Amino acid sequence: MLKHPLLCKAHGYWGGAFRPIDSPESFCVINPSTLDVLAKLPNLTGEHATEAIMSAREVLRTPPRFEHRVGWLTAIADVHLEQRESLASIIAQENGKPLREALQEVEYAAGFYRDAATRVAELEAKIVPGDPRGLRWQIHHRPAGVAGLITPWNFPLGMLAKKLAGALAAGCPSVVKPAEKTPLSAIALFTLLDRLGLPPGLCNLVFGDAAAIGKVMCTDPSVRVISFTGSTRVGQILAQQSAPHIKRLGLELGGNAPFVVFADADLDVAVEELMANKFRCAGQTCVCTNRVFVEKSLASTLVARISQRVAALRTGRQAGDACDVGPMIDGQAFDKVRALVADAIDRGARAVAGGLPDDQERQYYPPTVLYPVNNDMACCRQELFGPVIAVTEFESEEAVCAAANDTEYGLAAYVFSGDATRASRVASRLQFGHVGINTATGPTPEAPFGGMKHSGLGREGGLEGIMEYVELQTLPTRYDPGHSDSKRTS
Ligand code: NAP
Repeated sequence: MLKHPLLCKAHGYWGGAFRPIDSPESFCVINPSTLDVLAKLPNLTGEHATEAIMSAREVLRTPPRFEHRVGWLTAIADVHLEQRESLASIIAQENGKPLREALQEVEYAAGFYRDAATRVAELEAKIVPGDPRGLRWQIHHRPAGVAGLITPWNFPLGMLAKKLAGALAAGCPSVVKPAEKTPLSAIALFTLLDRLGLPPGLCNLVFGDAAAIGKVMCTDPSVRVISFTGSTRVGQILAQQSAPHIKRLGLELGGNAPFVVFADADLDVAVEELMANKFRCAGQTCVCTNRVFVEKSLASTLVARISQRVAALRTGRQAGDACDVGPMIDGQAFDKVRALVADAIDRGARAVAGGLPDDQERQYYPPTVLYPVNNDMACCRQELFGPVIAVTEFESEEAVCAAANDTEYGLAAYVFSGDATRASRVASRLQFGHVGINTATGPTPEAPFGGMKHSGLGREGGLEGIMEYVELQTLPTRYDPGHSDSKRTS
């Protein structure tokens, strides 16, 4: 069992306190690197979610003042950085990612709170210029209501920060539901939030029976926003369940990122960016490249370069920093990647690095390069979600745009070309919410990020990410132009 001062109270949290529950049902959190059991937690239910929502609702009686929101966001950003080693160590143990990556994640998370704090002032009421209809029109940014925040296991604190920062900036209380595989970093964070003395009910935590908790969030009338990051399948369930209740949905779903390399690209940059993008979290991120499209004349050179780099990657346990690629989150995830690689090989692709592992360990998938694949293979149709690069050739700009868009997903894409005009023309044709040009960076707290098509709805980050939790309220007001008080906005 994982013993850590931030995990002394491994319970749900609502109404400003940890809530020990004597539940007959429990679940185990496993370290994917060692398969050790890190914790056994009670399985909280829909009833616990309802209690958490009720305490959240109380906060809205007096919506939080702007200066308080700024103070909370700043304090939460600070506490992430003060506790970065502890938080990163918990993430690394429950998720399996190398400690180096976990430290980056904590800093990334802090950035969302920090950025949101700087934007709260942008929510001040605005006046429509020109007094249409002879009235004063004020636009207020009201908290939308209680926010239900459901997060996945691949960035346990990063994904939480994207949501909680936006909700707090908008003045919304939240009920957080982390993934069953990685609830410990959220518990650690709530231990820190508890010490900050936030108003009871502002931030609440439940974990356990995901379907029951999700159903309550979708149906309880106090929950006005549901923000979910995870699979398209679960996103669809939430959309269906909440449709009769007309809730605002933020859905950050699956991806199938194309990485397009034209023959005039800077090859060194393209290779570096691909390596940095592809192997984070063992390839288990929504912005990880899924399909590499390379112009035919460059294909063999690119494949040789990346195969050499991939063959040199070290897989292994996250203790220390001596590995490049950590384990798959679980055996099922390992099996899925193996099946996709087997399908590609059966259908004519070669494993020019890695391939099909013989051992039965089902933890560390060998970093693999498949070439040539075609866009009809399962590894190109589905999210690979593993340390596998699949390379396809293309012959024209027209053809590569069509192939890249030939997916139900539309989250991240990357274009590499020495011709800036062409790169931006191709970017404009790609139906993806995030298109890197000569970079394969993922999102940043300062800019909106989100998907098109089956990759989701709404945006996280920047002012747009906060507006997901804001209801606009318009106040047309009759006023006496001669009376100075009548011009006040609040
Ligand atoms: P998942 O199975 O959809 O789970 C995500 C979250 O939803 C977990 O907290 C899970 O709880 C919960 N959940 C499961 N069933 C539910 C239900 N019926 N109602 C309400 N909540 C439910 O996804 P995952 O496997 O953890 O994450 C990987 C997926 O996330 C990939 O598709 C990836 O592309 C996507 N992702 C997208 C983004 C983005 O920004 N677009 C970022 C990261 C990941 P339990 O864990 O307790 O079951």
